Amino acid sequence: MLRFLGLLLAFIFIVPLIRMVLGALGRIFTNFTLGARPQTPQRAPGSRPPAAAGGTLHKDPVCGTYVSESVAVKLNAGGQTHYFCSTACRDKFTG
Ligand SMILES: [Zn+2]
Repeated sequence: MLRFLGLLLAFIFIVPLIRMVLGALGRIFTNFTLGARPQTPQRAPGSRPPAAAGGTLHKDPVCGTYVSESVAVKLNAGGQTHYFCSTACRDKFTG
């Protein structure tokens, strides 16, 4: 009778323990499958879009296109710098 009670007590203690272990294993498996999923790269917040890279934007007075200072065709006229998208626009401007 005491052995039976001992078995019963052991059973009562072991069953929740097994369930706890299985639950932990299930959580580990879920974390593993979620972690294995490829993550899409996130752009850092506050990073400038590529269009704005390369310096200040200036408006081409001929065609109205905004060109970056680093790639623009520059012309100094009358103490003022003009920025063009191409030499063709600059030539049109100068006549
Ligand atoms: Zn232009």
